[in-house]
Amino acid sequence: MIPGIANPGGTLPLSLDWEDWFQLCCPPFDGPEALDRFEDRLELATDLALQLCDDLGAKATWFCLADQAQRHPERLRRIVANGHRIGLHGLTHQRAFSQDLAAFRQSVARGKAVIEDLSGTLVQGYRAPEWSLRAGAVEYWRELPGLGFTFDSSRAPLKVLGDPCWSRRPHRLMAGLWELPPPVMGLGPLTVPLWGWAMRLLPKWLLRAELGALAKENAGTPLVLHPWELDQGQPLLPEASLGHRFAHRAGLPGYGSRLQQLWAGLALVPLEAWIEGRERAEAAELVPVLRAAHS
Ligand SMILES: [Zn+2]
Repeated sequence: MIPGIANPGGTLPLSLDWEDWFQLCCPPFDGPEALDRFEDRLELATDLALQLCDDLGAKATWFCLADQAQRHPERLRRIVANGHRIGLHGLTHQRAFSQDLAAFRQSVARGKAVIEDLSGTLVQGYRAPEWSLRAGAVEYWRELPGLGFTFDSSRAPLKVLGDPCWSRRPHRLMAGLWELPPPVMGLGPLTVPLWGWAMRLLPKWLLRAELGALAKENAGTPLVLHPWELDQGQPLLPEASLGHRFAHRAGLPGYGSRLQQLWAGLALVPLEAWIEGRERAEAAELVPVLRAAHS
């Protein structure tokens, strides 16, 4: 706990994007050859993230890459065995808008099948690499129900990564498809993501107050963590842009213990569990209305 800051309690969904430290969404990091070119540190990072979840009593939805699941099926099954849920982050870490609609549909269907086969669990949720259901892929979510998904978490209400006009709270994109947008903080040009570099660098009192307010509201905005953010020993990315290097590395030292403090006291649950809770609440609200209508 942080001295002087009350434990807010409350529930928030927690998500992890299961990818290795070098998997930026741009060449030369997003192609299949990158998996052999860079050091494989995913098992170490996975174990660190599983331990953090255990320490916090947290369960999460892990959005997994199928190409990594094929390399690390034992770790994928360990995530499931630890009580977490599995979603799809892609067949590879290629951005959705770099594929035409037919290629997107095919890669998502294949990725879902691979992950379900290797994990032995049903995959209901999707998150595009780098929030890439934007630009030319802004309508690609329409494909998801037909591919067997019941929720998406790819639409960041932010400039560059998405659109600040998009809703900041969970909503149905269409019948049978929830959207759970990631949390953002602030207004206008001062809006920042409540994950990644901002979670690693902004003052703890500010983040704690924001997290407490979201949890108290039962806002349903999934917290976001990459296992590699807990890996202190990862090499530098020599060919990455300055912006990528900042987003990727700033504030990494001590991030695990920082999260222990920031997330302490929050009930962190898989996205599926949050949706099930919301649907139960909606059904309970509906029952008296239907009874009144029939009386
Ligand atoms: Zn990713």
